[in-house]
Amino acid sequence: MSSSDRILLILLLLLIPAALWAPGYLVMHYPELIEPLIYLPWLTLGSTLLLSQIYHQGRLGFMVILAMLLYGLIQSQLQVPLHQEGKRLLFWVMGLLTPVLALLLALLPERVPFSRQSGGHWLLLLAGVILVAVLTQIPALAQGLTQFLTPRAFLLTQHSPAPLLMLAWQTLIAVILWALYLRHRESASMAALLLVVGLMLVCLGFARPMISVTLLAVVGVTLFVVVLQQGHQMAFLDELTGIPGRRALNMALKRVGRRYSLAMMDIDHFKKFNDTYGHDVGDEVLKLVASRLTQIKGGGQVFRYGGEEFTVLFPGKTPKACAPHLEAVREDIAEYPFVVRSTKSRPEDENTGRERRGQGGGKTVQITISMGLSERTGERPEAEAVIKAADQALYKAKKAGRNCLKLG
Ligand code: GH3
Ligand code: MG
Ligand code: MG
Repeated sequence: MSSSDRILLILLLLLIPAALWAPGYLVMHYPELIEPLIYLPWLTLGSTLLLSQIYHQGRLGFMVILAMLLYGLIQSQLQVPLHQEGKRLLFWVMGLLTPVLALLLALLPERVPFSRQSGGHWLLLLAGVILVAVLTQIPALAQGLTQFLTPRAFLLTQHSPAPLLMLAWQTLIAVILWALYLRHRESASMAALLLVVGLMLVCLGFARPMISVTLLAVVGVTLFVVVLQQGHQMAFLDELTGIPGRRALNMALKRVGRRYSLAMMDIDHFKKFNDTYGHDVGDEVLKLVASRLTQIKGGGQVFRYGGEEFTVLFPGKTPKACAPHLEAVREDIAEYPFVVRSTKSRPEDENTGRERRGQGGGKTVQITISMGLSERTGERPEAEAVIKAADQALYKAKKAGRNCLKLG
């Protein structure tokens, strides 16, 4: 499980006490807090919106705006018994429409909220607001729709004001968002999922006082964490390969202590590979090499140093102890069948391309890496000197015919 998966799970779990325990506890023990606490979601969501704008995380910002609209709607329109027809319809529309908007926002491209390019995102939210406004402003329409929907298997239970079909709809969208997150690991789908699960809990317990306050306050906090986590990833993870980058290496070297070994590695003849198959195939190879490298044993931490060069840091290890682990990944990569389809000979005609793909028309190529290994010693206490020694060893490995490990 990756660290962002763990964070998502923790954040999802955080919603449960906000739904089950906090509302009742507050009403019972701190009734005087009820009034001021109504502002809490505005505070948590507002700070998250600000942070998302600072970090240029547009879709997360839009997700926060959606959460704010939802909370505004609940507070301004739905603090009355739901047996009033217009209100019941509004509740249904809110429960059905919000997940759709969250899903569409997660699917739209990344944009900064308060910028010219984000027109589509605003239009989407505006469409939602207009729909809700029309329903609240035209009572005849609301009445007609309610009468139409009520008998149509909208399945109400005694336990919750939320119809079962609405909950099923929300579950379906949550599952789609979960799949979307697993596929792309994007923070926007993570945020949308948190919002939809939060909404679902609000709808389930809608009759409980303070439920929307506690849940949306917590949704605000969870989205805040998502923005922070995304900011951390942007700073420390390499965008192409998804593994830690140069800045993460520098940080790791600062706290690694006095004893460590370090390997520099470089893909062999990569320039020729790019020239033959194209830069985008080269990028795919870089991703594959990175993912194979991260399988390294012996406590090795893998970083993309830059270009087609990687660094492995072994805290507390001697070169003798880590050499076998490095040899193992070197061999693993050399034996791995990289299947490439040359972009240069890619057929113009899409149908021909599909046929070739169907035949598994890719060519298998061998990728090898050369490695240089060094350790921190009294003579070279600085990390730069250790890197330099590993680089010199790497140069020796290249001279010795590549696809090998040399000590420096
Ligand atoms: P050697 O075996 O001596 O290392 O040969 P080489 O061709 O790998 O050596 P060199 O360091 O000169 O070439 C590195 C090439 O890596 C140059 C560049 O085209 C390619 N490269 C660097 N970064 C990237 C990247 O992000 N994507 C792709 N596709 N190629 C990259
Ligand atoms: Mg190089
Ligand atoms: Mg190279």
